[in-house]
Amino acid sequence: MAESNFVDYVKIYCRSGKGGRGSTHMRRAKYCPNGGPDGGDGGRGGHVILRGNRNYWTLLHLRYDRHILAGHGESGSKNRSFGKDGADKVIEVPCGTVVYNAETGEYICDVTEHEQEVILLKGGRGGLGNWHFKTATRQAPRFAQPGEPMQEMTVIMELKLLADVGLVGFPNAGKSTLLSAVSSAKPKIANYPFTTMEPNLGIVSYREGKSFVMADIPGIIEGASEGRGLGLRFLRHIERNSLLLFMVPADSDDIRREYEILLNELRNFNPEMLDKQRVLAVTKCDMLDQKLMDEIEPTLPEGIPHVFISAISGLGINVLKDILWEELNKESNKLTGHIESIAHRAKDLSHLQAELQEEGEDEELSYEYIDEDEEEIEELEDFEYEEDEEE
Ligand code: GDP
Ligand code: MG
Repeated sequence: MAESNFVDYVKIYCRSGKGGRGSTHMRRAKYCPNGGPDGGDGGRGGHVILRGNRNYWTLLHLRYDRHILAGHGESGSKNRSFGKDGADKVIEVPCGTVVYNAETGEYICDVTEHEQEVILLKGGRGGLGNWHFKTATRQAPRFAQPGEPMQEMTVIMELKLLADVGLVGFPNAGKSTLLSAVSSAKPKIANYPFTTMEPNLGIVSYREGKSFVMADIPGIIEGASEGRGLGLRFLRHIERNSLLLFMVPADSDDIRREYEILLNELRNFNPEMLDKQRVLAVTKCDMLDQKLMDEIEPTLPEGIPHVFISAISGLGINVLKDILWEELNKESNKLTGHIESIAHRAKDLSHLQAELQEEGEDEELSYEYIDEDEEEIEELEDFEYEEDEEE
């Protein structure tokens, strides 16, 4: 079995750039020997930025790039010249990426939307050059601010697919076949277990231009939640699916039992999984006639909507879509709300980031304290000064 290209977990060391130091340059021209301080400001260090990109479906592209380093800001120089800002590093991630601090396990952020940007690590601000510190009584300040330090963090990125419907079933239940029948996704289909080595997402179009996202997840086997088989690693991706479609083939020895085993796997993995809406599809019903279906019907588990389908003949597929749509749009569907709140939280975060950034920039650009006034200089005491004899 070939190794999967599906990478849903990476650990990366990230570091922003440090701010460039302010210059302590003194202007000395031929006819102006005491030109005064003219040292420019250091440039800002580069940020490390995460950006959602819907063209990525995995974290594979990050697997071989384990160190992400933004550029340092350059020092200021004479003539009040600004140092160049360090280059930002943008990490493109698939939508649904969750980021944690690898050392503390602390949740950092979610990237859920295409082109959503989150500053993971801020670059250090550049230091002010000496000309800012000139006052009536201190005509030739021989100091300037150093740049702010860089920030570093080892992060863990995890991919959680955001789907509306997650398919749950043993290998061979017909999950991939259904996904390819109702969407334009092209999953691998074969008559042996574990053909699906990576989750596939498909957009299912419903009536009047409405659509929902369905995720085909590799088959879970009994014991998956205890770490057996491939299932466990992938179960993570259905944590967020707002509705679970259980799939049991019509030729199963005991449909109800098979359903209960699946349910139990999910419960062991995470009891919250059972809070999701559930629908049961009896698959491969092209193999049955109406009489057989009527016989099976009373043996099906109670309290869960069911539908007989065949992805091959198309039997029951429209009914299935109707049921899924209806269940997805129920008031009581907490999980759609959950996904929305994650999206909102992510929006809030980026909003906050933008605000912080703006504030930061204001500060950076505010030179209020450059005044020929002793009192103002007091306010600068917070800053570290660096004595420096440049050039
Ligand atoms: P998965 O492991 O759940 O993704 O199952 P697949 O979609 O790969 O299907 C497993 C096998 O069942 C394949 O040989 C399919 O051709 C077959 N199959 C899937 N759906 C149907 C169906 O509706 N009718 C019949 N007769 N066979 C099906
Ligand atoms: Mg499959």
